[in-house]
Amino acid sequence: MHVRRKLVAGNWKMNGSIAALQELSAIAAAARAASGVDVAICPPFTLIAPAAARSGGMAIGAQDCHWAASGAHTGNVSAAMLKEAGARLAIVGHSERRADEGEGDDLIRRKAEAVLATGLQAIVCVGETDEQRRSGRAIEVVTAQLAGSLPDPRGEAELVVAYEPVWAIGTGNVATPADIAEMHAAIRAHLLGRFGDAGGRIRILYGGSVKADNARELFAVADVDGALVGGASLTAAQFVPIVEAATGA
Ligand code: PEP
Repeated sequence: MHVRRKLVAGNWKMNGSIAALQELSAIAAAARAASGVDVAICPPFTLIAPAAARSGGMAIGAQDCHWAASGAHTGNVSAAMLKEAGARLAIVGHSERRADEGEGDDLIRRKAEAVLATGLQAIVCVGETDEQRRSGRAIEVVTAQLAGSLPDPRGEAELVVAYEPVWAIGTGNVATPADIAEMHAAIRAHLLGRFGDAGGRIRILYGGSVKADNARELFAVADVDGALVGGASLTAAQFVPIVEAATGA
């Protein structure tokens, strides 16, 4: 049986500013006090370097990266550039990128491979839509996303999976503990089937309207190894209690 440290990662999306880094300093102080829990904040690209300079050792991450190391890809940023700016991880395959930018599993896998090859941690997001859940296809959809978008982990670099039901993101609708337990068990089974024993070390985060008042219950669910938090990661007042809930879980 593997003991996995909880990871609480904040996704600021297209929010934040230099002034908002005050929140980050307060979050970093709480992260230092949170024994046994990994904490990360993923601000927009432009804030990665100033955030890393103020994070006091807390991990800073990116919300996306390009699959190529360099070249003619106007407007994109490579994993090596993120690393140089101070990022230690990158989210890939967030449902907002799958939906808004038309990103598919193959592209997401190549991005994740680039992230891992650069020595950063990759958080690969998967999750079903409301319609897919209502039609009873949630596990089938997520399993297909895993098969298509997960790279083979290698070396020291680390792979993390975030299960984020699309209908729960930014809506205040949280999946039930029973539904989360069922999905995380299915994801774990996939990871063990594909990676053998190493699949037991890969952390599976839940994401979708995680808040201070539901975090403790969510962290108690089997195979929930932390959370990917959107809206509630923007302020220390909302995010720190989620980190504290993970500390006690
Ligand atoms: C997310 O964007 O990854 C997310 C989970 O958002 P929220 O916590 O706001 O639902």
